[in-house]
Amino acid sequence: MSPKQKIVTIDGPSGVGKSTISRRVAQALSFTYLDTGAMYRAVGLKLKEAAIDLDDEAALRACLDTVRLHLLPAAEENDDVGVILNDRDVSQEIRSPEMSMLASRVSALPAVREKLTHMQQEIGRKGEIVAEGRDTGTVVFPQAAWKFYLDADPKERMHRRAKQLRATGESVDEEELLAMIIKRDHDDQARSVAPLCKAEDALVIDTGVLTIEEVTQAMLEAIQR
Ligand code: C5P
Repeated sequence: MSPKQKIVTIDGPSGVGKSTISRRVAQALSFTYLDTGAMYRAVGLKLKEAAIDLDDEAALRACLDTVRLHLLPAAEENDDVGVILNDRDVSQEIRSPEMSMLASRVSALPAVREKLTHMQQEIGRKGEIVAEGRDTGTVVFPQAAWKFYLDADPKERMHRRAKQLRATGESVDEEELLAMIIKRDHDDQARSVAPLCKAEDALVIDTGVLTIEEVTQAMLEAIQR
C-alpha cells in the first residue's frame, strides 16, 4: 500500500459549512486550503462564455486546454477564496446560485473532471493541503491521511445558504433555494463519474447539530490523534 499523504479531505453536499470549516482547519494546521468547487465554478463560467456545446467533445476539450486557473487566498477570514481565470478575476461572478447549478452540470462531464482532478493532484503533490469538495477523499486524494464527510439536513443547509446570500445583498426565495439544493445534491450523487459519496475511511460529522467551532475542534482532535 502506498504511504498516506499529509492531506486533509473534507467532502459533503452544499451548505454544510465545508468552506468555513476547511479554512479554519487549514489555518490551524498551517496547511494550504484548496477549494475544488471554485475550480468547477470557474470552468463552468468559461464554458458558458465560450458558448461551448457540452455534447461536442472536441470543442469541449479544446476549450479546456485554454483554461488557466489561479486560486487566491481569501481576503478576509470569512470570505471565499478568489479565482483568477486566464488573467481575469472571477471571484465574485462564480458565487451566484446560477453558477452553482452550472458548476454542478459541467462537473458531470468526464473531460472536465479529468482536467481538474489532474490540476488538484498537482497542487497537492507536496502535501500540507486541506482539500474541500465532493470527491477529494474518494478520487482526488485517496491516500489522504485524514478524511471527513460533513452532512446536515437540507433545510438546515438552506437556512445557512440563505443567510450567506442575504449578507451579500442578494434577495432569497427560500423554497426555490431549497429545491436547488436538493436538485444539486441529487445530481452530484447520481452522476456516473466521481459522484458525491463518503470515502470508506472518512469520519462523518453532522454539522446541523454542532457549531462551526465544535466541528472544527472535533476535526482537529481527530487529526491530532
Ligand atoms: O462546493 P461548491 O458548491 O463550490 O461546488 C460547486 C459544484 O461543483 C458542486 O455542486 C459540484 O457539482 C461540483 N464539484 C464537484 N467536485 C468537487 C467540487 C465541486 O463535482 N470536488
